[in-house]
Amino acid sequence: MPLLVKLHAKDNVAIAVAPISAGTEVMDGIVASHDIPQAHKIALTDIPAGGEIIRYGVVLGYAIDPIQKGDWINETMLVLPTPPSVDNMEYGKNIVTDLPKAPVTTFEGYRNPNGGYAGTRNLLGISTTVQCVTGVLNVAVKRMREELLPKYPNVDGIVPINHAYGCGVAINAPEAKVPIRTLRNLTKHPNFGGQLMVVGLGCEKLTVDKLLDEADINPENVIILQEQAGFDAMIQALMDMADKKLQILNKRRRETLPLSDLCIGMQCGGSDAFSGVTANPSAGYAADMLVQAGATVMFSEVTEVRDGVHMIAERCVSKEVCDKLAAEMRWYDNYLLAGQVDRSANPTPGNKKGGLSNIVEKAMGSIAKSGTSPIVEVLSPAERPSKKGLIYAATPASDIVCGPCQLASGITLQVFMTGRGTPYGLAAAPVIKVCSRNEMKAMWQDLIDINAGPIATGEATIADIGTELFYKIINVASGREKSFAEKYELYNDLCIFNPAPIT
Ligand code: CA
Repeated sequence: MPLLVKLHAKDNVAIAVAPISAGTEVMDGIVASHDIPQAHKIALTDIPAGGEIIRYGVVLGYAIDPIQKGDWINETMLVLPTPPSVDNMEYGKNIVTDLPKAPVTTFEGYRNPNGGYAGTRNLLGISTTVQCVTGVLNVAVKRMREELLPKYPNVDGIVPINHAYGCGVAINAPEAKVPIRTLRNLTKHPNFGGQLMVVGLGCEKLTVDKLLDEADINPENVIILQEQAGFDAMIQALMDMADKKLQILNKRRRETLPLSDLCIGMQCGGSDAFSGVTANPSAGYAADMLVQAGATVMFSEVTEVRDGVHMIAERCVSKEVCDKLAAEMRWYDNYLLAGQVDRSANPTPGNKKGGLSNIVEKAMGSIAKSGTSPIVEVLSPAERPSKKGLIYAATPASDIVCGPCQLASGITLQVFMTGRGTPYGLAAAPVIKVCSRNEMKAMWQDLIDINAGPIATGEATIADIGTELFYKIINVASGREKSFAEKYELYNDLCIFNPAPIT
């Protein structure tokens, strides 16, 4: 087993595959001067104060004090470089068309009545206009699951879209378009089979016409609790409407469909310094295979691409796509500035414990999950795509906010890479978990679906794990397998991104 992983010829640091004791000769002439925790960096050369610390071939930061060859480098020892400018970025310079060939080009999915992406699950989605209805809806959903669902064996489940938005908010603020668009697009999620069911209170700011098209606003699709004569009537109305929708959904059947009908998302959370070596590059390889076969793959998390945005720009297919990428980055820079922080507000204490010194190092690893395909479109948070292929969907990096944004953009499955471990999951689409280290898989044997750790120990290649992940995506999307998060129903709340004021 190698002791260290060095990624790029220019790198003057490498990371420890396993914990290294002080005094160990890690390479010819390089002896560890401290105990070095797993995934943390060791200096391969002497670095003067102010000198560059280089990993992935990029400058992670500048040394605060002189660093000797063999020293442990952690987050306290370097200062952050300025982020790359988003003005005048070069686009189209790195368009890769030689992608790994997908071994399978179809999956078993649910076609939708209005076209668009196919479903991977057959679910009754119940949208809400405001948090005030959540208590009543949850009582009704419990009864629906007990009394109605057993009658409809072709329906996989019932998903209430409960959220904290809807009232007490500045609904006409410019940025209110983000949460409104998110909830509106969630209502039409491909896994919900075109069936609309919306529960409102009656006096809230997020009125039903903001969620549904005019033609869809009718008593077949909408229940207003203030129009119901008490609790029993509310529950009965909800049960009756759900029963009708479930009857229709129960007729849906999977069909063999081209991968161009599949739209999946990529996200990482609880990353460590191995994420960019093992899990994320494997996800990138699987993403390339999917794109090669015509599928749509989204990656996101603005603060985690910000420091590599020039690399993303070079993969944009047109000026229009590159300009939108720049606009999304500027918007987020200003959003952080308004909160008197910058991108260094990410990473987390766990990321740092996992060897990630700063956001530059985290970003270089995060970008790897996008593979090498050309970027055909950039989306604002929760927008629906108009193109197929690799798409950058700008969202916060927060796992529980990125998830709903990508769902609203139409993903029907998410691949989630982790180094530290999280039991994260989504009710509206299956989540496949990929871990970066063998120790993570050993610890969470029954939560991690794919282990990319053998890449670090030299027992597997990125292509091996990427291909394994590709097949897992096809099998889970086709309903032949469940991911662990789905099997245990580990569903996070839907946290809707609301950059607008609350009143
Ligand atoms: Ca994340």
